Amino acid sequence: MELNLNITPLEQWLPGEKPLVISGPCSAETEAQVMQTANELGASGLVSVLRAGIWKPRTRPNSFEGVGIEALNWLVNAAKTNNMKSATEVANVQHVEACLKAGVDILWIGARTSVNPFSVQEIADALKGVDIPVLVKNPINPDLQLWIGALERINSAGITKIGAIHRGFSNSGKSIYRNQPMWDLAIELKALCPALPMICDPSHIAGNRELLQVVAQRSLDLDMDGVMIEAHPTPDEAWSDAKQQITPARLIELVGELQVRQVTSESKEFITQLEKLRASIDKVDHNIFSWLTERMELVEQIGDYKRANEVTILQVERWNEIKKTRKELGRQLGLSEEFIMDLLRIIHKESIRKQTAVMNKISE
Ligand code: PEP
Ligand code: MN
Repeated sequence: MELNLNITPLEQWLPGEKPLVISGPCSAETEAQVMQTANELGASGLVSVLRAGIWKPRTRPNSFEGVGIEALNWLVNAAKTNNMKSATEVANVQHVEACLKAGVDILWIGARTSVNPFSVQEIADALKGVDIPVLVKNPINPDLQLWIGALERINSAGITKIGAIHRGFSNSGKSIYRNQPMWDLAIELKALCPALPMICDPSHIAGNRELLQVVAQRSLDLDMDGVMIEAHPTPDEAWSDAKQQITPARLIELVGELQVRQVTSESKEFITQLEKLRASIDKVDHNIFSWLTERMELVEQIGDYKRANEVTILQVERWNEIKKTRKELGRQLGLSEEFIMDLLRIIHKESIRKQTAVMNKISE
């Protein structure tokens, strides 16, 4: 699959040191609250973009749904006063028009909107001919194509100052995260389009204060460009997302503790050592592939044998025994159970596919 986006490099529209930090309250609540947050964040010099939700997409009605249009000026003024850019979420054409009129610097499309191609297209159409940066949050469900589709729609409208925000994916509730990070999806997007700026939103991934630091650090270690973290002067009293918000002082501390590592090192010794280790990995991968080929050949032989003896492909006791013994073997060898089970499932799926082909004598 190809992903060709026309991208203006991040440094050209948001210059500054890595990581880019976007912070501010989940929601704008009062003019004083927005200004106080902005003043405290601005004083640190670490935060370049002030965020605040003006229209809030809430799961259930009759909860606080944002102050609305009146709060746009609070956001724009508070950002300007503190030499920051302003950013907010837009979910429809009216939001876009109001933001453009108020002079908001950066727009983002929320997770409940990027999931809907109709809404994204309407926003894209409203942005034709406008030169404003747009950040696209991942859709709530783990569908990379949908995320890519939203980015393409906005980019096709002529928006080249574009970026992605990774805010995690909806889960069934049994998780330490509010939204599953599913880092591999973000990595895949980056691999498809290395020039696309990527910002992590640890607040909505974590859903609590405790995990913010590790999630933020992880995103930087995956070479993301920045973080968006919610901050509120009195987080416990916030009108939305109280559990995950932190004070501006804590935000500054958290950002200060982040380690920014380089993608590579100039050091000769590092490069030589890395090359040596990578050559060893190449050899191991070669061996793994040869072993897999041998395994599949055996699987085919068994398939032939089962066919000749009119025996089913799946013997569930054997599959259960494989899982049990390999889990134990993995444990002894220090491999995680999750990894071993994922790997086994893929191998077993391919084995079943091979034997089905043998049974049906489908030529491959
Ligand atoms: C937000 O940033 O406050 C928000 C509503 O985020 P998301 O769209 O990621 O849920
Ligand atoms: Mn929020």
